[in-house]
Amino acid sequence: MNIEKELKDKGVEILRFTWVGLDGYIRAKGVYVDHISDAIETGVALTMGIISFTPMNYVSPYGSFGPQSEDVFLIPDISTLSIFPPSAVVLCNLYKQGKPWEYDTRSTLIRTLEEVKEQYGFDFKSAFEIEFYLTKDRKPFDEARCFDPSVYYNNPIIREIAKKIKYIGIDPVRIIKEQGPAQYEFNIMYKGALRSADEIILFKEISRQIAAKYGVEVNFMPKPFNKLPGSGLHLNISIWKESQNLFYNQNDEYKLSELAYSFIAGLIEHAKALTAIAAPTINSYKRLIRGSWAPTKIAYGYNNRSAMIRIPTPYPGISKLDRRIEYRVPDPTTNPYLLLAAVIQAGLDGIERGLKSPEPLNENIYHKKDIEDLPRNLRDALNELKRDTRLIEKVGRSLIEEFIRVKLAEVEEYESLVTEWEYEVYRSL
Ligand code: GLU
Ligand code: MG
Ligand code: MG
Repeated sequence: MNIEKELKDKGVEILRFTWVGLDGYIRAKGVYVDHISDAIETGVALTMGIISFTPMNYVSPYGSFGPQSEDVFLIPDISTLSIFPPSAVVLCNLYKQGKPWEYDTRSTLIRTLEEVKEQYGFDFKSAFEIEFYLTKDRKPFDEARCFDPSVYYNNPIIREIAKKIKYIGIDPVRIIKEQGPAQYEFNIMYKGALRSADEIILFKEISRQIAAKYGVEVNFMPKPFNKLPGSGLHLNISIWKESQNLFYNQNDEYKLSELAYSFIAGLIEHAKALTAIAAPTINSYKRLIRGSWAPTKIAYGYNNRSAMIRIPTPYPGISKLDRRIEYRVPDPTTNPYLLLAAVIQAGLDGIERGLKSPEPLNENIYHKKDIEDLPRNLRDALNELKRDTRLIEKVGRSLIEEFIRVKLAEVEEYESLVTEWEYEVYRSL
């Protein structure tokens, strides 16, 4: 059906041409429905300068693109058109002179998936678990505890989010009252890697919009409150060929294949560099602390929630479809396209070089001294990424270098600020 007519019939006036920058911000240009056909055909012009933007909403002083830069084009991927009347979103790729732009993260994931498919015949399936707080006036919106059953009838916001995402084709498998007050989690059904990244962007967009109607914010900060649990974006991933899950091996105690163990070894090999992409904000490192159920050390284990990679319990008679690994470092401030491109390249490096994973660690490892730590802050993580030339070449040098430049501005601004804590603690020294 003609898209202009479909939008008009459903009462949509503005279609949001949406993309995600290197700083993880979701941005959009609104196209009025009367001009939709042109915009779909030619794309919508956009300054290259946007790619050097920071979450502080100014261009990084180290960024490559300023006000003098030429334009690129937002080319909508019509298969992502999501109408939730009276609103609608379409996700876009950034094109330069008719070709995918190397600085665009969505295009980078698409290229990665195409190249890997061509070389190995592999498809990647992934599923995200997105955690967040509902907040009002900078406080948790309710006091419900972990697994409180009353939220399913008392919380209309959560019910409406579930209903609206379902309506646009996202499949919420579990909806959980997480540990923190007003902290929730949606487990989203696994799909092809590109679609599952798209669904995280759509989820953030839609849930925010719904909560706003109730005067509430959906807060995706990794650690919004002192002394309360942080919010993660755990990534479950597996490799498939045709309809076979290649991570499954029925003869292994944990039902994992050699391929899966090598993929894990690749993630361990590149763990420090990956952290800069998976946990890309200052605030991310306040979540990655001991005892928080978020990882602090470079290890994997069977059903171990203190490890960086968890192998979920193989249930008796486990379904082949279900065999996967869960990478626990990511939080909801990550750019899911860049995350998936980097995780896939890191894991493939393990497969290509035939790396062997170390022994799994199945105990609580928060206090174990002999295991290497993940980077402790964003600056350290960025330095690790800068050094990981293998990963940089595989994901795309221009893009990763610009990502580091954008993030450095964030680090420097934060490091220059005097916090309340410092003032209180040091005022009488
Ligand atoms: N909220 C924890 C995190 O930040 C995860 C809790 C869980 O295991 O679901 O990663
Ligand atoms: Mg959880
Ligand atoms: Mg999880």
